[in-house]
Amino acid sequence: MKYELVSGLETHVELSTKTKIFCSCSTEFGGEPNTHCCPVCVGFPGTLPKLNQKVVEYAIMAGLATNCEISNISKMDRKNYCYPDLPKAYQISQFDMPLCKNGHIDLSNGRRIRINRIHIEEDAGKLVHQGGNTYVDYNRGGVPLIEIVTEPDFRSSDEVREYVEKLQLAMKFIGVSDCKMQEGSMRCDVNISVRPMGSEEYGTRTEIKNMNSITFMTKAIDYEYTRQIDVLENGGRITQETLRYNESDGTTSSMRNKEDADDYRYFRDPDLVNIHVTDEEVEAIRRALPELPEVKRERYISQFGLPEADALQLTKSRAIAEFFEAASDGVANPKTVANCIIGQIFRRMENDDAKEKFEVSIPASYLKDLVLLLDSGKIRMNLLKSTLDKMLDSGKPATEFLSESDLSGVDTGDLKKFCEDAVAANPNAVADYRAGKEKALKALLGSVMKASRGRADALEAERILIELISKG
Ligand code: ADP
Ligand code: ZN
Ligand code: MG
Repeated sequence: MKYELVSGLETHVELSTKTKIFCSCSTEFGGEPNTHCCPVCVGFPGTLPKLNQKVVEYAIMAGLATNCEISNISKMDRKNYCYPDLPKAYQISQFDMPLCKNGHIDLSNGRRIRINRIHIEEDAGKLVHQGGNTYVDYNRGGVPLIEIVTEPDFRSSDEVREYVEKLQLAMKFIGVSDCKMQEGSMRCDVNISVRPMGSEEYGTRTEIKNMNSITFMTKAIDYEYTRQIDVLENGGRITQETLRYNESDGTTSSMRNKEDADDYRYFRDPDLVNIHVTDEEVEAIRRALPELPEVKRERYISQFGLPEADALQLTKSRAIAEFFEAASDGVANPKTVANCIIGQIFRRMENDDAKEKFEVSIPASYLKDLVLLLDSGKIRMNLLKSTLDKMLDSGKPATEFLSESDLSGVDTGDLKKFCEDAVAANPNAVADYRAGKEKALKALLGSVMKASRGRADALEAERILIELISKG
C-alpha cells in the first residue's frame, strides 16, 4: 500500500526584545550563568509579573507577516508542569485565547500551510549536564517566545523545509528574531503521522523534538515516515509518543509517552490582566512593517526586470535588499547593480552569515554614483568593475580612482590605433584566430584593454579587431 505523510509543526521563536517578558532582566545570550535573573523570572513566590509591551508588538508583527488575524482580546494562562528548569512549576503561556490565529504561508508548489495560532509565552531555564552533575542556568527563563502552530498540512519533508526557511526569513526581515536554530532561538517540534494514500482520516502521530538544523529535521521526518509505515505494514500500531532524533545514526527513539505528560491543567494567570489590542494599533503596526521578502522579490522581477535567481539572492536579508534598493535608485539598469552585488561584493564575504549581515566598506551611494557614470557613457563596464574593486578595498568613492582622461572615454581614432598595435604585437594570436581558434581574440582584446587602461568599449574593439585580422 502507498502511504501519505501528514505533518504539522510547532515552532518556538525567541523574540529579540532587549528585556524579558515579565521583568526587566536582559535577554542577552551567553552571559555568565544566573546573572540575568531576578525574583520575578526565577519565580519567587509573591512576585508579580508585568507584561512587556514590546513582546505584544513583536508578536503582532510576526502574526501580520504570516497572514494571521490579531485578537482584540487575549489572555495569559498558566501551563502547569514540574521540571527543574521551571522553578515556578508553571509556564506562563496562552491557551484558549492566543494573540494571533488563522494565518498561512504559501509554498512554491501552490499548497497553503495553514497556521492555527501564534501565542506568546516565556522560555524556561536551561539544564547543563557536566561531569556527572546537572546544573541549571536561569538566564533564559522568562525570555519571550512565540509559538507558531500549523495545521497538519505538510505532505513531504521538502514542504517542511520550505516553510521553515520562509518563516525564518520573514521573522529576520521584520526584525523580531534572529532565528538561529543552532543557538536555539528557533526550535521546531515536528508532528508526524502516515495514512493510506487517498484516506481522509489522520493516523496516530508522534512528535520529534530537539533538532538543531533544517537538514536534521528533514532527515528525521523521512526516517520517521519510513519507520511508521514499517510498523503498520507489519501489523503493528503507532503509539502516540514524543521522540528524540539521534543525529549520530539518523534514527528516532522514545523520550516519553504523551499520556502522562499531557495534563497541564491550564488556567488563567490571576496576576495578569487581559491583553487589549485595538484595530487602530494593529493597523499602525502593519503600516510600519517593512516590505516582506516575497513581495520584494516579485517587485524586483516585475519592476526592475531582474532574473528570479538574482531577486532571490538580493532578498536573502534586509541589509542586502536595502543596499540594493539604495544603490539602484535612479540608475538606468538595476541589473548592473545586482551584478556588482552578487558578483564582486558577495565574493568578498566569507560565508552565508557574513552575506546576510552584508557589511560593505562603501555606502550604497558610492556604488550608485559609479553606475551612473556607466549610464551616462562616461565609463565602460570593465572600468566600472576594476574601479569597484578599488573602492571596496579602500572604502573610498569612485572619484578617487578615476582621472579626467578615464572619464573622457576613448575616441574612435585612439581605439583603432590600440587595435592595430595589438594586432602587430601578437602575430601568434592573429594566426591562431585565422586558423579558427576564436579564443585567440581574447588575447588581442586583452592587450587593447590594457593599452586603453580599461576605457575601451569591448564590443567596438572586438569589431575593429576582427575587421583588421580578416583584412590583413
Ligand atoms: P496538542 O494539543 O497535543 O499539542 P495540537 O492539536 O495542538 O495537539 O497539535 C499539535 C501539532 O500536531 C500541530 O502542529 C498539528 O498540526 C499537529 N498534528 C495534529 N494531529 C496530527 C496528525 N494526526 N499527524 C500529524 N500532525 C498532527
Ligand atoms: Zn528577571
Ligand atoms: Mg499544542
